[in-house]
Amino acid sequence: MSGAGTIRYGREDPNYDENCPLCRMEKKTEWFYEDYMMVICRCETHPDKWMVVLKRHIPIGEMSPEEMRRTTTALINMHPDGTLVQMRRGEKYREHAHLHEA
Ligand SMILES: [Zn+2]
Ligand SMILES: [Zn+2]
Repeated sequence: MSGAGTIRYGREDPNYDENCPLCRMEKKTEWFYEDYMMVICRCETHPDKWMVVLKRHIPIGEMSPEEMRRTTTALINMHPDGTLVQMRRGEKYREHAHLHEA
């Protein structure tokens, strides 16, 4: 089993793309949460929506089980009243895994 430590994030990511706004992670909107793996921030296009952005440049289908589990948990934790709004796959940057509030 490969540990989470074998995956590299941010600029360490071998697929890091300087031309990808999600890779560059410029802080253009409010950020709710950040750790080494992900950021939860407001969408620039839809400021009433939150999105969770993985800090590596891969399609959403290639996220590891650990990444899926941790991003989902982070989303649940930001809705302490028990409601979890529906999330959908981000449409604009399909090659960079992120989930967007529906
Ligand atoms: Zn990217
Ligand atoms: Zn949006």
